[in-house]
Amino acid sequence: MIGSGEQIGNLYVLDKASITTQDCNGVPCSVNAVVDTTLWHNRLGHPSVSKIESITDVLGLKQNNNKGFHCSICPLAKQKHLPYISQNNICENVFDLLHIDIWGPFSVPTVEGYRYFLTIVDDHSRVTWLYLLRTKSEVLQVFPDFLKMVETQYKAVVKGVRSDNAPELQFTALYKSKGIQSFHSCPETPEQNSVVERKHQHILNVARSLMFQANLPLEYWGDCVLTSVFLINRLPTPLLKNKSPFQVLTSKKPEYKGLKVFGCLCYSSTSTKNRHKFQPRSKACLFLGYPAGYKGYKLLDLETHTIHISRNVVFHEDIFPYATGTPESTSDFFSLLSSDTILGMWPNLTQKLAQELRIATSFIYYPKILIPSNVGHSNRPPRDVGGKRSNGKQPKPNISEIQQDMPLIWAT
Ligand SMILES: [Zn+2]
Repeated sequence: MIGSGEQIGNLYVLDKASITTQDCNGVPCSVNAVVDTTLWHNRLGHPSVSKIESITDVLGLKQNNNKGFHCSICPLAKQKHLPYISQNNICENVFDLLHIDIWGPFSVPTVEGYRYFLTIVDDHSRVTWLYLLRTKSEVLQVFPDFLKMVETQYKAVVKGVRSDNAPELQFTALYKSKGIQSFHSCPETPEQNSVVERKHQHILNVARSLMFQANLPLEYWGDCVLTSVFLINRLPTPLLKNKSPFQVLTSKKPEYKGLKVFGCLCYSSTSTKNRHKFQPRSKACLFLGYPAGYKGYKLLDLETHTIHISRNVVFHEDIFPYATGTPESTSDFFSLLSSDTILGMWPNLTQKLAQELRIATSFIYYPKILIPSNVGHSNRPPRDVGGKRSNGKQPKPNISEIQQDMPLIWAT
């Protein structure tokens, strides 16, 4: 026996910690399909080891094998807690009380032109909804739509809303018409709005981890915060007796098996329509998160720089196309398409031809080599969903509509 693992669904997951050289009878052994704490730490947005240990049963990990665990991203990404104590009195029912706040403007707009986000936290379940906004005034449409969504999807009515004194969050007429009680914090006392203030801090801590892990340009901060909220909603918290916000709201346990490392390289299958025999079967992409309302993955095409959604995706979770290249990582890239591999596929090729083909296909499949990560991002025009470059006159990207949906559909 060289290792042990557990069955999760249809997959046997090998526990890396159980592999010893003794088990291999002294023969050096290596494995490729290993799921360990580091991989889950990266997939889940860099939570603490203790948080991962609280869900090891569903992740297929063994407890107490994380003594040597170290992450170089976490110290860079995580800010210490706010200096005031959060009030932990939780309302009895979902939607009894919402906490809302707007964050921004951020100096760098996202690729879709967003500069703000609205955060809504349900007091009872601590489920968070995050809506990207181009201007603060968009909240006038987004928040009433959210109240309608609650009524339709959860058959519930919101009873109270707490916010700071921001003028754009004074929905006096709306609250009056719906019988909603509004609570405001006193000026200069953010601690009275501490639930959402802390949530902002948590979201940004996780978003920084995702951004640093993938080495993404700043214009992708919108995808980082959306993915943060998606992950935070699915992680257990002591405040909810080690249940996740998702579970408290829906009475279902979240699924983890589809989660992948944000910002990694992946390949999405190309459409069989209009594809001839010698066109690539897949496109090199970067994984940008979990689009609400779709059972698929949000992907950035590395060649065309367009965004699309696909469910037929193969992931390489330890390769980050925007990471700063090192000689070692570059050789890793090329080794994936070695001459021997190509000769195995087409035995009639000469070694020299295989070598040339290897270099040519490397440029096709790994555009990072042609597009250095630190060149051109800040000055590039915004990209549109669906393949068109946006010059400000194009219609709004479809992806914004997706993000206005409720963020929990993906896993259900
Ligand atoms: Zn980390």
